[in-house]
Amino acid sequence: MIARGRPASIPPRSWFRCDMTSRVTRIPLASPAPGTQRHLTVRRYGEPEARPKAYLQASIHADELPAMLVAHHLSRLLDEAAEDGRISGEIVLVPVANPIGLAQRINGALLGRYELDGGGNFNRNWPDFIEALAERVGPKLGLDADENVRRIRAGIAEILSEQSAATELAGLRLSLGRLACDADLVLDLHCDSDALVHLYMIPQLWPAGADLSAEIGSRATMLSEPSGGDPFDEAWSAPWAALRTRFPDKPVPMACFSATIEFRGQSDVEDHLAAHDAAALFRFLQRRGLVSGDPPPPPEPQCEATPFSAVDMVKSPGAGLIAYKRRLGERVKAGDVIAELVDPMADDPGQARRPIHTRTDGLFFARRRTRFARSGEGVAKVAGAAPLEHRRGRLLED
Ligand SMILES: [Zn+2]
Repeated sequence: MIARGRPASIPPRSWFRCDMTSRVTRIPLASPAPGTQRHLTVRRYGEPEARPKAYLQASIHADELPAMLVAHHLSRLLDEAAEDGRISGEIVLVPVANPIGLAQRINGALLGRYELDGGGNFNRNWPDFIEALAERVGPKLGLDADENVRRIRAGIAEILSEQSAATELAGLRLSLGRLACDADLVLDLHCDSDALVHLYMIPQLWPAGADLSAEIGSRATMLSEPSGGDPFDEAWSAPWAALRTRFPDKPVPMACFSATIEFRGQSDVEDHLAAHDAAALFRFLQRRGLVSGDPPPPPEPQCEATPFSAVDMVKSPGAGLIAYKRRLGERVKAGDVIAELVDPMADDPGQARRPIHTRTDGLFFARRRTRFARSGEGVAKVAGAAPLEHRRGRLLED
């Protein structure tokens, strides 16, 4: 029987659900070897070029699995909203941003943070457009803010359209960049090693980002400019901040809100967590005008934003086992012992332990999942409020 008078030639709705709710496209990447080719899958919602536009990607660090599960849950919510005609802007979701990294395994271990062919950290060295943009667009800026936004976006798109990619990795970066470059909203979904939910953005986006911070339940929201590693999120927000400074007599709004969200730790791959996080992102998209509806006000914030230079990245003073003495979520004081470094080969087991201290008062929000470290490797992150003397220059870990 044909439901609701559907002509017999049209298949049931579920048969072509993707056409009715989201458009799924594939972007092929350059083949790294004969017989092998990877691609990006892109889920698009709403009318192309509708505003506002949101771009979300998951797991550019491919071993940060919680982000992909959040994207999966979010795509189900967005499919439903699209089916009901509730998408009011354009949403572009890349649920697996790094198929190259996701295929990198050595002896059973997934290694998705660095490209094994020498390309480095997948979330570092994203292009810095500021000089090229200032030169290209600066003379064209006028007194109409909306027109300036259009010109700057066109300038970024033009710069990207002139680039070509010879390698699979370069093609991945360029493809993701072209999808994100003109968005009003860019959310880069990650996780830490073992951590509470936390968030990074540039200072010019605060307090505009306070609702995102509250909505996702961020326990540490950190503002940095520049963080020193050129992560993906800064590639899209920093040019607006820089052009505002460079051309103070021209109205240039912060037209791209871009942030990196860390959805806990690498082992926190749980449906109930991902569903909770996806629902938070969905409400945020509603509040920002991407999906119609009436979301409740954001919950009480779990933290104030603090400078990234106030985060103590506690390092191991040597090689050995890391025995934590404090739990994630605990407030600690400068001088407190966060962990002990244990040398199980010490001649005298009584002398086998060295204390590892934090140098700031703050929230202990991230630690290493693998409880073994070499000298200089990160053991803990403690979010304080006051910038730290030893935290100058490059703030991001590698
Ligand atoms: Zn990451």
